[in-house]
Amino acid sequence: MMSGDGTISLPGGARMPSYGCGTWQMGEDARHHPREVAALRAALDAGVRMIDTAEMYAEGGAEKIVGEAIAGRREDVFLVSKVYPHNAGFDEMQRAAHASLERLGVDAVDLYLLHWPGQIPLEETVAAFEHLRAQGAIRGWGVSNFDPDDIEVLNEAVAVNRVSDPKGSCQVNQVLYHLGARGIEWDLVPAADVGGIPLMAYSPLGQGALLTAPAIEAIAERQDVSPAVVATAWTMRSGRIAAIPKTADPERAKENAKARDLTLDPDDLAQLDAAFPPPDCPEPLGVI
Ligand code: NDP
Repeated sequence: MMSGDGTISLPGGARMPSYGCGTWQMGEDARHHPREVAALRAALDAGVRMIDTAEMYAEGGAEKIVGEAIAGRREDVFLVSKVYPHNAGFDEMQRAAHASLERLGVDAVDLYLLHWPGQIPLEETVAAFEHLRAQGAIRGWGVSNFDPDDIEVLNEAVAVNRVSDPKGSCQVNQVLYHLGARGIEWDLVPAADVGGIPLMAYSPLGQGALLTAPAIEAIAERQDVSPAVVATAWTMRSGRIAAIPKTADPERAKENAKARDLTLDPDDLAQLDAAFPPPDCPEPLGVI
């Protein structure tokens, strides 16, 4: 549930900001580092309180950018990182997590996600997450790119581990969700709404492809914001789904953060439904 302070309460009781910055494709080219750091700092200066990253992004390069951007202001940020599926075994995950913490320059991340379902049994992955949580290296854990069948297997793995504290259950499922990819509205969203796993929308701008869509441009013009703000605000409209658009541009970072304040009215929503219809049957979970 989102509250008036722009956070969503997680099963374990932590409050996750409903808006954050993505970092995929940051850290890949040293010439862009200062601008990427500046973009994340501009977002923090605008009051953004969450950053999403992963060990996969630039093979640790994005985590280093994040580390530089949050240096001296750790308390301002709800930090999310992700582990590769091939590092989700017990010993591998301890090493991977500590390497991420080192690159980020922090003692703990707020959420540590399994990036996508892999080959390692989830019982072992849950045990590895819980070991890290007991050490204080992660404050909670979750998953990404999990469809309803994957969630069922995960729930069994949590049961096998006899996790009874809600802080030790899955806190979030980060999935593809934007106007052009609405499949989760058929299954994962209704499940989340009745006490299932809270959702975080990745690629809320459709990786930039949505930003020239006429229906989105028209609403942006009427609301006097950019198309990126409309597209992001749409994913956050229920107050129960978080969004993490990415930009490496400091000006765009400030602009995009206005999505937190935009309420789309029923006419806007109807026009967007007409241009981007909701699912009318189950669809395989979209992934990137
Ligand atoms: P987004 O939907 O956030 O789109 C990012 C693209 O939009 C970039 O090309 C960016 O360019 C451009 N853009 C951003 N703001 C504006 C603006 N105001 N005007 C014009 N263009 C803009 O795509 P992502 O795939 O990056 O998704 C967001 C985040 O979600 C990722 O960065 C990552 O953290 C996470 N993610 C997670 C995945 C998973 O498997 N768990 C998979 C994919 C993403 P520029 O930087 O030049 O501004």
